[in-house]
Amino acid sequence: MGDTTTETGAPAPTRSALEVECDALRRTNRMLAERIDALMNVHHAAILILDPESGAILDANAAAVRRYANGRAELLTRNIRDINTLSPPEIAQRMRLAVAARRHHFEFLHRLRDGSVQEVDVYSGPILYDGKLALVSFIHDATRRKTLERKLKTMASTDALTGCCNRRRFLALLRQEFRQARRHRLPLSVAMIDLDHFKRINDTFGHQTGDAVLKAVAAACRRMMRDGDAFGRLGGEEFGVLLPGTDLAAAEAVLGRVAEAARGATVRVQGERVRATMSVGLSAALPDDADEAPLLRRADTALYLAKADGRDRIATAAG
Ligand code: GH3
Ligand code: MG
Ligand code: MG
Repeated sequence: MGDTTTETGAPAPTRSALEVECDALRRTNRMLAERIDALMNVHHAAILILDPESGAILDANAAAVRRYANGRAELLTRNIRDINTLSPPEIAQRMRLAVAARRHHFEFLHRLRDGSVQEVDVYSGPILYDGKLALVSFIHDATRRKTLERKLKTMASTDALTGCCNRRRFLALLRQEFRQARRHRLPLSVAMIDLDHFKRINDTFGHQTGDAVLKAVAAACRRMMRDGDAFGRLGGEEFGVLLPGTDLAAAEAVLGRVAEAARGATVRVQGERVRATMSVGLSAALPDDADEAPLLRRADTALYLAKADGRDRIATAAG
């Protein structure tokens, strides 16, 4: 160590082992900071570092700047409350959860630079930033996923041919309305509909015409529903009607109008008007019903009676 000399021949100042180590550490730190910067800035997700107390934006990557502001300087003057559409107390609560690492995934609506609002997935967690506890958030555009989810949800509850709710959805609504009716001691009526001699329509005019009749009948019936009522396709050429707040006598009048509307729903084939009549079984919830199953069973029995009685009519369940 002592034998190193400068170009002028003067002895070089000796550096302690500690200084050498400090230099190496500084170089490593600089290199790490550059790598972190590079990583943050190539990441396609927007990254924000937030003060979890105030919601102030402490740092942001290039993707976040592009998304939320006109330039980095502007973004660093902003607060997450300017971006997240939740109320300030709600935002504070979510930040507390993320800082405590009790929740790391959130779905939010974010206000973008152009003023539009976007559905986003946010993955957040606590980090140390400048020696203080901060929150780092990775933000992804969730528009595609959310749109797909909504489409799937609609598909799962909609009948593809008629566009009305399917059996699954109808039964779920029935369960829900049964509970409501019992809680509030309100009447609830249910109708089961089966189109008459539908095989003949298919046999005479073909399956496609059969489908067109099903669509026309369903559309006509749906037009007769009020807010809160439900009309669903239970399968094949069978439909259900749910009438909350409606007793049996009133329901019979409603179904009379529904049957009339269905009879008027015709499909033109080779100059002929094809139409279908319906048989209806009607029942109302009774105080002794434990759940919605007996209500459905009585409507089904009444439907059977309407068929046996000559079709094109409404039969009402006894009791
Ligand atoms: P009924 O008066 O006793 O009800 O006579 P029906 O001929 O209607 O007999 P049923 O209810 O037992 O049979 C219904 C027929 O409806 C059977 C099937 O060919 C037809 N069908 C069921 N689903 C569809 C469908 O999605 N499209 C068409 N076109 N026909 C269907
Ligand atoms: Mg049938
Ligand atoms: Mg039928």
